Amino acid sequence: MPKYSIVAPIYNESENLPELFRRVREVMESTGKTWELVLVDDGSTDGSTDLMRELAEEDPRVRPVIFARNFGHQIAVTAGMDYSRGDAVVIIDADLQDPPEVILDMIAKWREGYEVVYAVRAEREGESWFKLLTAATFYRLIQRITDVDIPLDTGDFRLLDRKVVDVMGQMRERHRFLRGMSSWVGFKSVGVEYQRSERFAGETKYPLRKMLKFASDAITSFSYFPLQVATYIGFAAAGFSSLAIPVVIALRLAGSRAFFGQASTLIAVLFLGGVQLISLGILGEYIGRLYDEAKGRPLYVVRDAPEREE
Ligand code: UDP
Ligand code: MG
Repeated sequence: MPKYSIVAPIYNESENLPELFRRVREVMESTGKTWELVLVDDGSTDGSTDLMRELAEEDPRVRPVIFARNFGHQIAVTAGMDYSRGDAVVIIDADLQDPPEVILDMIAKWREGYEVVYAVRAEREGESWFKLLTAATFYRLIQRITDVDIPLDTGDFRLLDRKVVDVMGQMRERHRFLRGMSSWVGFKSVGVEYQRSERFAGETKYPLRKMLKFASDAITSFSYFPLQVATYIGFAAAGFSSLAIPVVIALRLAGSRAFFGQASTLIAVLFLGGVQLISLGILGEYIGRLYDEAKGRPLYVVRDAPEREE
């Protein structure tokens, strides 16, 4: 069994793969311990799959897990954790935005006895202001409305002790928000700071659509707050109208012509109609996720993978 497992999800990262392998190897060799690199191919179409197989031929420490199609980043990382065998498992992006050298700091903390060592982004290079703003807002929103304490500005780049990996492996929820799950599990955690680099090559594989899905998975997995919003708005609207009714009656008795006509009626009806539809949509988000869980399908389908244990 290797001492350390490095897990990287791969979705069309053929330009980054050789460099990722080279840098991970360099860093891991310097530890003097055994290690493996679990690469999870999340339905790549750019030749990454063959490249992973070649790397594995050259170096048996590379273990490719190949999905039957694209299942998404969080699921790919989950599969990597399932196939990992190390006493400590490091999750890292394949695009080298998370510098492999930071793994050494993480290992040092792990050897001090910490079971979760997450990397905190002290600075980010070369990302658009839009990404920075949405990310910052997202982390702070999650912090406010969820019950688990998720450290600010951390991603999935982290080291997890075998104990943590085993517990998370038993949590088979479909809409996964791994950093929330790893906080939920508990254990002794600590952060190490690092500078997030630019992508080594290629473009982000997280278009706005995937980012929004990720954010809604994160919120629905760890908070009932959106469900309660309808109740709050309901109380506010009922309170407002019970105050407004006597005012309007008094104005009318005094001979005022305020609030005559259709416009004010229409605005009130449309406003409440809108609020009701949004509330229904929010309910739908939760019910859809319940339905997905009820189907109980496997989290991912593997076309080709090494033996789980040996
Ligand atoms: N990724 C994946 N499946 C996807 C999208 C992304 O496995 O559907 C991988 C991708 O190859 C990379 C990591 O997830 O290793 C992070 O993606 P990316 O760098 O595009 O995200 P960003 O850093 O822009 O948020
Ligand atoms: Mg990236």
